[in-house]
Amino acid sequence: MSSVYAWLGVRRIINGKGPATRLSGGTIRPEVLAAMAEAAGACVDMAELQAAASRRIAEATGAEAGLVTSGAAAGLLLATAAAVTGLEPGRMARLPDTANMPNEVVVARAQRNFYDHAVRGAGVRLVEVGLPDRYAGAGVRDAEPWEFAEAIGPATAAVLWVADANAQPSLARVAEVAHEAGVPVIVDAAAQLPPAANLRRFIAEGADLVAFSGGKALGGPQASGILAGRRDLIMAAALQMLDLDIWIEQFRPDPAFIDLARLKGLPPHGIGRPCKVGKEQVAGLLTALELFLAEGDTARQARWTGRLGELRVLLEGVTGLRTELVPGPVPVLQLQLDREAWPVVMALEEGQPSVRLDVEHHAQGRLLVNPVCLEAQDVQPLAERLRAVLE
Ligand SMILES: *Cc1c(COP(=O)(O)O)cnc(C)c1O
Repeated sequence: MSSVYAWLGVRRIINGKGPATRLSGGTIRPEVLAAMAEAAGACVDMAELQAAASRRIAEATGAEAGLVTSGAAAGLLLATAAAVTGLEPGRMARLPDTANMPNEVVVARAQRNFYDHAVRGAGVRLVEVGLPDRYAGAGVRDAEPWEFAEAIGPATAAVLWVADANAQPSLARVAEVAHEAGVPVIVDAAAQLPPAANLRRFIAEGADLVAFSGGKALGGPQASGILAGRRDLIMAAALQMLDLDIWIEQFRPDPAFIDLARLKGLPPHGIGRPCKVGKEQVAGLLTALELFLAEGDTARQARWTGRLGELRVLLEGVTGLRTELVPGPVPVLQLQLDREAWPVVMALEEGQPSVRLDVEHHAQGRLLVNPVCLEAQDVQPLAERLRAVLE
């Protein structure tokens, strides 16, 4: 399997950081790979395949419909485009020019992040509300529902809410305000799986569209994602992603997915064209979703904890290191060093094999091992590298 990397002269790394895009995401299970290989061996009509995906995603999320995208960021771009255009092919044709369309997206200032570029890519302007006063330590408040209400107006296309356990206000309260004004809420839940319950949670709490990564802990192909939500918005998103270079008579999508009776005509290729996925990604993502649900949180956590436990045993007695298993939806092994962590991080990254860890808390001398991308064969060499660098 690694011979393709040898051929290209690319080093295999030990990924203890988790499914980061720069580290090529996670590894995928043989069942997922098999589905992708099988799908690759026969051609299908992509609108028919995406309609089938829509039914599967609807079942898994409780949403009316869904779409397989090339990632959560692609989902955010498509979601925003759908909120701006609705089912108007004329508007779809004009994006990213949003003149004379609702072209503002309201977001809590504290929730601005690198990925909201995908939202802005649809041609909208972000309107920030709230002051994250909690940051100062003395403060307790963040954006409040009345601030969303005040910022929403005729130019508002959507409200963006970035899922996080500490997000203020809650999704339910933001959705209440947005829906009162007739504005949809787009949720970025890219990294919110597991727990599996989050597949349904955001829709249940009022999201009109929610984007998940397929290439993170869900275990799908790295360049895949899920967009789930309202039927009309998924329809608008799909129309801006699918290849529509055909006569309308040739286009016969499942009306539950794309209802041609609701359209004036077919738009040209849309702004979402660069978000396209292949049949292999759709098959792989849907298979990963089934496996993710079938395994369940308890068994998944036990599998991950088991792998971290093996590593922990191998690290016993390493000087200047204390380890602790930290439970959670994704358990991690915490490595508390008795020295400055940064030189250790550099030595691990530059070593052979290169080891990448979660370095978020390096300033406290703490490194984390995330088990999601750690293969059984990685445990021994990872322990050896840590021992060599620390001793
Ligand atoms: C990872 C991530 C994304 C992007 O997801 P992709 O599937 O890589 O496109 C977007 N938002 C947040 C909060 C993320 O963590």
